Amino acid sequence: MTNCIFCKIINKDVPTNFLYEDELVIAFKDIRPLAPVHVLVIPKRHIESVKDLKDGDEKLAGRIVMVAKKMAEQLRIADSGYKLLWRVGDDGGQEVPHIHVHLLGGAKLSENIRPV
Ligand code: 5GP
Ligand code: ZN
Repeated sequence: MTNCIFCKIINKDVPTNFLYEDELVIAFKDIRPLAPVHVLVIPKRHIESVKDLKDGDEKLAGRIVMVAKKMAEQLRIADSGYKLLWRVGDDGGQEVPHIHVHLLGGAKLSENIRPV
């Protein structure tokens, strides 16, 4: 998708330090962190949101979660705990229409995500 900011990050049109990359997904730091650790894990394929996942996307969806888990271990927040957040559509507050999971941690998080 030419106009998608996350596709531009994947294509390196927007320079971004990848914390992780494999054949299906990448992970990078959120530009406006809401917690001491705030990482986004996204698929390389443009999919708008969870609502657009189809039968056959189980491997991709599973990979996103597994990479988030590995990033939590690598960034040393696995034991203290963290939040995984999927926003879906308008009511879910999704701003970037390229599916992503937020990995948030490094502090005790309140319900509205910001550190208490
Ligand atoms: P959403 O609200 O769609 O769930 O989350 C989108 C996230 O993408 C936001 O937390 C926002 O800060 C992040 N974001 C938007 N544009 C960029 C960018 O160009 N680079 C990075 N690293 N993060 C971005
Ligand atoms: Zn995209």
